[in-house]
Amino acid sequence: MRILLVEDDALLGDGTRAGLRLAGYAVDWAQDGEAASVALRGQKYDAIVLDLGLPRRDGLALLRELRGRDVLTPVLILTARDTREDKVAGLDAGADDYLTKPFDLEELQARLRALLRRAGGPPAAALAHGPVSMDPAGRRVLRAGQPVALSAREFTLLHDLLAHKGRIRSKSELEESLYAWGEEIESNTVEVYIHHLRKKLGADFIRTVRGLGYVVGES
Ligand code: CA
Repeated sequence: MRILLVEDDALLGDGTRAGLRLAGYAVDWAQDGEAASVALRGQKYDAIVLDLGLPRRDGLALLRELRGRDVLTPVLILTARDTREDKVAGLDAGADDYLTKPFDLEELQARLRALLRRAGGPPAAALAHGPVSMDPAGRRVLRAGQPVALSAREFTLLHDLLAHKGRIRSKSELEESLYAWGEEIESNTVEVYIHHLRKKLGADFIRTVRGLGYVVGES
């Protein structure tokens, strides 16, 4: 899943991005309101973590613009503005959740999970194939009822394949769900994670479609 983090504070942004990456999200980080707006026109996100006090365009203005364009991506406001009036204004502008700084990374992660759960995504039943099922909100994978331990990247890759069940995913599409902007892509990463997933889920679980990519289920 891909998150847009909008935060102008370099230290805080860096730490938040690192924490969210560890949780398995691909995180794009925009450092002002205008950069965020540009990012949102070019890329679909599963959620936005939005600071309010931003250079070039204020977070609230950005949020109103988004909702005005009928962009329904879940938004969690993450700000030092902590008065009741601020919270009311943020939620009324279209935010789905509001967390004030200083914040706890675990709480941010839990709130994001809740947000993504409420936003739905593919219904849980759809994120299953054969003996393998995935609970994306709880970040759990079962094979024949037994938990399977996956790394964050393996989880992300499997999530992408299951969410597009029956459709061939090219290597570059899979790379896009694994990597955020500016992250260096190692040339054989997708192959390596597919190899790990096959070991854990069964050799036939993910099929290679020569020259096109990979697929779970019938394509
Ligand atoms: Ca700020």
